[in-house]
Amino acid sequence: MRILVQKFGGTSVDGHECMLKVREKVLGGLDNGYKVIVVLSAMHGVTNSLLETAHSWTEQPDRAELDVLVATGEQQSVALFTMLLKEIGIKARSCLGYQLPIRTDPTYGSARILDIDQNAIFDLLKRYDVLVVAGFQGCDCTRRITTLGRGGSDTSAVALAAAVNASVCEIYTDVDGVYTTDPNICSKARKIDTIDYEEMLEMASMGAKVLQIRSVEFAKKYNVPIHVRSTFSNEPGTIVTQEENSMEAALVSGIAYDKDQARITLVGVKDEPGVSARIFEPIAAANIVVDMIVQNPSKDNRTDLTFTVPRGSVRDTLAIIDRIKDEIGAQDIFHDDNVCKISVIGVGMRTHAGIASIAFATLKKENINILMISTSEIKISCLVKEKYTELAIRSLHEAFGLDKEKSPACEQSLA
Ligand code: ADP
Ligand code: ASP
Ligand code: MG
Repeated sequence: MRILVQKFGGTSVDGHECMLKVREKVLGGLDNGYKVIVVLSAMHGVTNSLLETAHSWTEQPDRAELDVLVATGEQQSVALFTMLLKEIGIKARSCLGYQLPIRTDPTYGSARILDIDQNAIFDLLKRYDVLVVAGFQGCDCTRRITTLGRGGSDTSAVALAAAVNASVCEIYTDVDGVYTTDPNICSKARKIDTIDYEEMLEMASMGAKVLQIRSVEFAKKYNVPIHVRSTFSNEPGTIVTQEENSMEAALVSGIAYDKDQARITLVGVKDEPGVSARIFEPIAAANIVVDMIVQNPSKDNRTDLTFTVPRGSVRDTLAIIDRIKDEIGAQDIFHDDNVCKISVIGVGMRTHAGIASIAFATLKKENINILMISTSEIKISCLVKEKYTELAIRSLHEAFGLDKEKSPACEQSLA
């Protein structure tokens, strides 16, 4: 049995017209001799509107019930789309996460997939040509509904592709592939034909929401090739796959940005063993992900500590700091939501020095102040004021020659 997995995001299932386009893609898969597993997101805006309703009804909605609520968005999509398949005589049925089942841990709101019943899917595919599966959802061991985090339908699709050993997982969206940077921000962004899992992972983690991070982790772990492409054209998109020839890897392959950042500064905390642990342990215990951390040199056994958290976690983080502020000796606490993290990414950085200095010089030329810096072997991230987001992206994109086939700026500077 040849199986194809096709996932369609929110803008691809946004109403009857769009769903007819989706149907054409599925018919294409059937014509090529595949059984098709279609994974659908909620229609554009539906998840946000369900979340808004819950938060307007109660200050802190129960997490498990919130998952029951937001999972209904995908339920609508699969029911409506399966009707469209059946009206033209396709043997199809809809499947919700708990029906397959897609088993997850019980972390409501950002559950991890633990297991998918492969045999149950094969049995269904003997009876149906198309399974229309609700993305973004699963169930825990007590059969409660869970959801996989924003953008989680990508992960549902890749996990299903891994479970049934599909030859490829097609991710259909509103852009025709993965670009050197968000094409909706930079008109000179170029489509990338092939990208390595590791680079894609870094792009996704640094904010390129075209693929959810966990979907790329899954793809890498189970070696599932992903084809990111457009629902609204027939052009080939971007293949995300295993690194083939790192010697020829571009120095810089993309620029990502993440506006979901807030900076918190603790002024004058005691500079002694255990203080960082005292600050970051309760933050971690509250499931708040700290990203960048900078500690200034100590003066009179006191230091300033600055770190970033997602914007939605600022209130909870400040409440935690308030509880421990006397213990850690914080003299003042500041926070700033108007920041954005811009990241330059490329596996070629592993073997070349000098990329960071080009990035810093480029931002300087535009008079953009860098608030914080963090690096890994294949990326450099700079936190800047949010108002500079577009300018920073465009100037870095140009400086690294990403609008051209090669990266002349880097090659010249590093020659
Ligand atoms: P879907 O609803 O189909 O899952 P998303 O909105 O989650 O779609 O992801 C697609 C969007 O990702 C694009 O519209 C684009 O604005 C954004 N994006 C950010 N960075 C990139 C990038 N490097 N390449 C392509 N798209 C990107
Ligand atoms: N509907 C969910 C969201 O908006 C999941 C997804 O679209 O992938 O995040
Ligand atoms: Mg998405």
